[in-house]
Amino acid sequence: MHDHDHDDHHRHAQGHDHDNHYSDMQARVKALETLLTEKGLIDPAAIDAIVETYETKVGPRNGAHVVAKAWSDPEFADWLKRDATAAIASLGYTGRQGEHMRAVFNTADTHNLIVCTLCSCYPWSVLGLPPVWYKAPAYRSRAVIDPRGVLAEFGLMLPEEKKIRVWDSTAELRYLVIPERPAGTEGMGETALASLVSRDAMIGTAVPAARRF
Ligand code: FE
Repeated sequence: MHDHDHDDHHRHAQGHDHDNHYSDMQARVKALETLLTEKGLIDPAAIDAIVETYETKVGPRNGAHVVAKAWSDPEFADWLKRDATAAIASLGYTGRQGEHMRAVFNTADTHNLIVCTLCSCYPWSVLGLPPVWYKAPAYRSRAVIDPRGVLAEFGLMLPEEKKIRVWDSTAELRYLVIPERPAGTEGMGETALASLVSRDAMIGTAVPAARRF
């Protein structure tokens, strides 16, 4: 069972980055990168390093801070449930593609999974740049049709009795999954807790473990 509202996509804003624009944009970016490299103005390896940093480090660390604070501070967690946009902004994480946020909390009964079926709407302010698979047609279609099967391919086997809710992002509303706090983390502070929270755990394709190996 899952929630999915195709009508949301009728509200996708004009000029929003849809797939049919990506190929053109990517071609332009590639042409620009090639030109700048040939002129000796940029180092492609440096660009790769910057993109890698935003994909895996800077962006998702913002979200992990939000999750760790929600785990540590019940008042903040309540605020996050009521008004995620304001609660997240209070930590300084605002900006493009993060203006309207909703936090969805995993529980013992329910696991949440985020997708954008139409294109690649994603909460940049808390997660950085979306991973390649998030933009892939296979993920976008199958996350809705067979979320349990998709999660199994990510190595996340959920018990049959656990309900999976699929949230379809739009240009206007982006989602952040707040995973369950792992058992055995009672004595941990916010910084240590944040280190347990991966990008994928905040998309819903993973769950945090008490220790990372
Ligand atoms: Fe989208």
